[in-house]
Order: sequence, then C-alpha cells, then structure tokens
Amino acid sequence: MIIRPKVRGFVCVTAHPTGCAANVQEQIDYVKNQSPVENGPKNVLIVGASTGYGLASRIAAAFGCGANTLGIYFERPSERGRTATPGWYNSVALEKAAKADGLYASSINGDAFSNEIKEQSIERIKLDMGKIDLVIYSLASPRRTDPKTGETYRSALKPIGAAYSNKYLDTDKRSIQEATVDAATDEDIQNTVKVMGGDDWELWIQALKDADLLSEGFKTVAYDYIGPKVTWPIYKDGTIGQAKVDLRRAKAAINESVSELGGEAHVSVNKAVVTQASSAIPGVNLYITILFKIMKELGGHEGCIEQIQRLFSDRLYNQGGNVPLDELGLIRMDDWEMEDKIQDAVTKVWPLVSTENLEELTDFEGYQTDFLRLFGFGIKGVDYDAEVEPEVDFD
Ligand code: NAD
Repeated sequence: MIIRPKVRGFVCVTAHPTGCAANVQEQIDYVKNQSPVENGPKNVLIVGASTGYGLASRIAAAFGCGANTLGIYFERPSERGRTATPGWYNSVALEKAAKADGLYASSINGDAFSNEIKEQSIERIKLDMGKIDLVIYSLASPRRTDPKTGETYRSALKPIGAAYSNKYLDTDKRSIQEATVDAATDEDIQNTVKVMGGDDWELWIQALKDADLLSEGFKTVAYDYIGPKVTWPIYKDGTIGQAKVDLRRAKAAINESVSELGGEAHVSVNKAVVTQASSAIPGVNLYITILFKIMKELGGHEGCIEQIQRLFSDRLYNQGGNVPLDELGLIRMDDWEMEDKIQDAVTKVWPLVSTENLEELTDFEGYQTDFLRLFGFGIKGVDYDAEVEPEVDFD
C-alpha cells in the first residue's frame, strides 16, 4: 500500500515503515560518527525504548558503546491493513541494524508497569545477557495499572491551585489560540504521580536487584524536564511537575537501596524536543517552536540523539567516574536550552507571537518536519509514492 500521513491533532495515525527505518539509521549514523564512548556500558536495559529519548538511548548504547540491549516498550504491530505504530517499525529496524553489527538486541512488547513484563525481562536477561550495567527509564504514558492493587490511574496535565490561561499552538489550523486549563484536583495530582512518578522505576530496580542482575557500579538514569517560566504553570508547577518531584525522591531511594553495589541512580533533566509525549502537552509545542528558531540561530540546537550521545559522552562516562551534577544533584542536559541568552530571547518573542507572524517568529516548519519524522514521513531518500508492505516483523 501507499502510506501517507494522517494527522489528527497531536497524533499521526499512520506510520511509514521505510521512513521509520531510515530515521533510525540516521540516528545510528550520527552516533557512529562521534568519538566512541570510553568505558561505556556493555549490558543495557531500556524501559521505554521504541521512540523519543528511550530510542536514542538504545542507539547510543548499542552503536556508540557496543552494548547488548534489551528494549521494553508498548507498541502495536500492523493489523487488518492498518500500519503499525512508529515505535514498532523503529524497533524492528534497530534490532536488524544491531544484529548486522554483531550486537545482541532483543525486545519485549508489553506493559512495563506490570509484574509479568518485569518477570519476562528478568528471564530474558538471565538467559541471554548476564548482569546489567545501565538501566535507562524513559517511559511516557497516560495511564498505569498498579500491579499490587490492580487499580488503573490516569495522568492529567493540569496546573495546581488555580485554572491557567495561556496561548497555545493549534498545529492543525496553524494558528495561535488561547486556552484555559482547569486546576487539578488532589486526585489528579496523586494519579499523575502514580503514573509518571518514580514508583515503577523503583520496582524495576528492586526486581533486578532481587534477581542479582545488577553489576557492581551499575548506573540507572530516568529523564526529567524543568523548562522555562512560561511553561511552569502547566509543567514544572503542575501535575506532571509533581510526578517529576517524585522521580527525584525515587532517585534518592534507589541510591540508598543499591549502595552496597556501588550503584548510582541519576535523574537527567533533558532539553525540550519534539516527541509523541511532548506534542501532547498544552503550550509546550508553542514554546518548542520558538525555542528551536532561537537555538538554531544562536547555536546549541539538539534533537534526542544529540542530547543522549552528549549524556553518554560528557556526563555518564568519560569523566573518570564522576558524573557532573548541579546543586540539586541533577544531570543538566538542558544546560544549553536554559542559557540566559536563549531564555531572554524566548521571553521577548513569546508575547509577540500571533497566527499572522507564526512563520516569521517561530520555527513552525521545523516543528512540523520533526513531528512528521516521528512517524517516518518527510525523510530524505524515502520514496513515499512507492508501494510498501505495512506488515514488518522481527526476524
Ligand atoms: P515518547 O512518547 O517518545 O516515548 C515513550 C516510550 O514509553 C515509548 O517507547 C513507549 O512505547 C513507552 N511506553 C509508554 N507506555 C508504556 C507501557 N505501559 N509499557 C511499556 N512501554 C511504554 O516519550 P519521550 O518524550 O521520549 O519521553 C521519555 C521521558 O523523557 C519522559 O520521562 C519525559 O518526561 C522525558 N522528557 C521528555 C522531553 C521532551 O521534550 N520530549 C524533555 C525532557 C524529558
């Protein structure tokens, strides 16, 4: 079939297998062109490995460090003439490329929050990999079923304390709109912490520890975001911000529980990039379009793969064993995004942006290009008029 993008708000309901494979290959090529990471990890588990920051982490580990990788994700294969989700196509392409390079790469598709997927992962690691020296935790999910109680929680992206009005970008209509988001209830806050907080990260590390599958001196990293003041009411000071506070709590708890192994848990605050998760956060897409224009002009613009390669090469490894941290103990990969010259420029542009000057004041085109690329569209060298088989499977 011929596959075209079908965009519905902040999702695209189709994905292109050849385009997704080309997108993965571009990221692999990027990593292979960087200096190899010295003393990098050799056995890596990535939870949330199929798209965005998790996929980039898997690529940096495998192709930058020569690591064996096990990737956990929740994706849908192609069925009844529908295309698969992009993360499915990405993972097929990644495994193929890893195997071609003689690297072990295996995947488990299912609910990472469940006991069953944790047990399956542990069996796979025991059988094929041995002890793990890096666990990347990169889940972004709207819901979670607690394995202990069976109760399902839904996260909410809401401000805390009072309703919040601000402008946002309607990508379908190419227009700037004003929206009000109601204040979160206490239940919204608790539910968002349940889904996007650190509870499940702790359960993964505990399960690996109990199975004696963590190596001496292993590292684990979860991803965080802080961002600029214009997004604080909805992000840092909102429900999702509370979940990130909980992630930092979990970091401290994990550090305590793995101290006898000399293990280290870290939270890395990453840059705002276009992913399926970030495009769903109200107002954040407008900030991203402004940020990208400024960072492309002033320097320092990065996507997922550039961020994660720098995380591996300049923070986690190559530093004589010391991971550089800020005064709160966080890894700051958003250092370039948060530079004063960048944020001052964002603050100046934000109030001026309107539907009429969107193209002039923001990188709307760049945002749209990155968004479509997530689904395998608009990638150089891919013939989108050619017939393509949507059913693509693992060897
Ligand atoms: P993403 O949507 O691209 O990826 C989410 C991953 O989670 C996918 O691999 C998906 O399959 C997996 N997943 C979701 N639910 C699952 C489940 N129940 N079981 C197994 N796998 C599941 O998201 P992303 O933007 O890369 O976000 C990853 C992390 O990075 C999040 O913690 C996010 O807050 C953080 N972060 C993102 C940004 C950004 O701008 N996108 C910036 C800083 C930090």
